[in-house]
Amino acid sequence: MSSMEIDLGLTFDNSYAQELEGFYDACLGDRAPSPELVKLNASLAESVGLTNTDTGELAQVFSGSDAPIGASPLAQVYAGHQFGGFTPQLGDGRALLLGEVLDKEGKRLDLQLKGSGPTKFSRRGDGKAVLGAVLREYILSEAMHALNIPTTRALAVVTTGEPVMRTQFLPGAVLTRIASSHLRVGTFQFFSARGEQDKVKQLADYAIARHYPELKESQQPYLDLLCAVRDKQAELVARWLLVGFVHGVMNTDNMTISGETIDYGPCAFMDNYDTNAVFSSIDEQGRYSYNNQPVIAQWNLARLAETLLPLIDVDRDEAIAQATEAVTGFWETFHRCWLAGMRAKLGLSTAQETDLALCEQLLETMSGQEVDFTQLFRQLASDLTSGNSESQTLFKDADKFLLWRASWLARLAQESLSTPERVEMMNGANPLYIPRNHLVEDAIDAAEQEGDYQPFEKLIAVLATPYMQQESADDYTKPAPESFGCYTTYCGT
Ligand code: AMP
Ligand code: MG
Repeated sequence: MSSMEIDLGLTFDNSYAQELEGFYDACLGDRAPSPELVKLNASLAESVGLTNTDTGELAQVFSGSDAPIGASPLAQVYAGHQFGGFTPQLGDGRALLLGEVLDKEGKRLDLQLKGSGPTKFSRRGDGKAVLGAVLREYILSEAMHALNIPTTRALAVVTTGEPVMRTQFLPGAVLTRIASSHLRVGTFQFFSARGEQDKVKQLADYAIARHYPELKESQQPYLDLLCAVRDKQAELVARWLLVGFVHGVMNTDNMTISGETIDYGPCAFMDNYDTNAVFSSIDEQGRYSYNNQPVIAQWNLARLAETLLPLIDVDRDEAIAQATEAVTGFWETFHRCWLAGMRAKLGLSTAQETDLALCEQLLETMSGQEVDFTQLFRQLASDLTSGNSESQTLFKDADKFLLWRASWLARLAQESLSTPERVEMMNGANPLYIPRNHLVEDAIDAAEQEGDYQPFEKLIAVLATPYMQQESADDYTKPAPESFGCYTTYCGT
């Protein structure tokens, strides 16, 4: 089949390809045997200016079979600490950056395919993705977006018509995703580990120009870059905790410079509150457990800091002192964001010294009680309206919770907010719908096994407005049935 010239109507402007030669390998995707567009994110397509509506052409482009006009496809190189151990050579092994597009507001966005075939960086991998994993990333990343949490987004899903071997043959698929960029901590590490400090500087300048242009005029741009990434990541991880999200594979190559959530591999939302929640099959030590996420984010930032040391100060001791202080500052931002989020979840419109203790005490009462994290906060709000205390039924033993509830109500009484105002505030901070694991699995199974995309479509529709009660969506608020058992997720699927 000969290559076609497909115009998506997008405005490409490929700064990474143009400005960062030596940071990638220019390559093409595999030709898919029979690409079929099974999902296009219409509103996102609209906002990035995608005007081509020919599903055949979209399937060609979003499978990697044909590069659209204006693209300059490439695989990015990076390194990374994976579960604490450094791998000097990673890179887009199953991803292809088509290029950057400017959206309707002039915002620069990466357009990337995931699963379009092997690249120079595939190592032993096949460069492919399977439909289940692709749909999973679609559901989870779009849910995160609807929860106002910075994230890459899903634009399209194409099935390739090619079976892909995992534990068995599964339908192959490609995800098209959109990100502010795919610059990672691991991108800096790749060049730093090779002693190519000029490249680290080039990358840092590029990152500043692309994500933190206000730092261009700074007296100490590289220290400020570190602080800016630190603050974005601290806020991001605080938001994850506030909705019960466990990323699952917070390797430094999966941590963005932009502060967006990236790489929805083994991630999951927890049902029951559990500080040690881990879903990933390979995270045996719980390195990336729910409560460990801020610790790991800070650890990853220290790895970023190491790459920037020579740029921060020529005097190494001085650079280390400044970088250490910057990385330590993670906790201040994290706690501030987390506490602000918890205040909103609990309907507190003012700040008091004792609020931190109040929030922590609630979590303590939830510990070991098999309380559904998402349901509890919504129930606290409904109870304010009804005057009942149904939330206590979510606990196995409610004694401690009832004590806490009394102190919470006393705290609320010190504010002038009316109950309807407070309930509105709480319902705006506490999602009713999250991508519950059993629902995600049901949607994937139906699509994968029967080609039935109804459950997937219904799920993404419900998750698009997670704070607003929707008709005939009650089942989407409920935790997994007992029969669902423990949930395990897998990397690189
Ligand atoms: P991840 O755990 O998805 O962040 O991937 C870690 C590294 O493994 C990255 O360099 C990926 O490109 C690579 N990788 C994961 N799955 C595959 C695959 N099926 N084929 C080739 N490379 C892969
Ligand atoms: Mg990754």
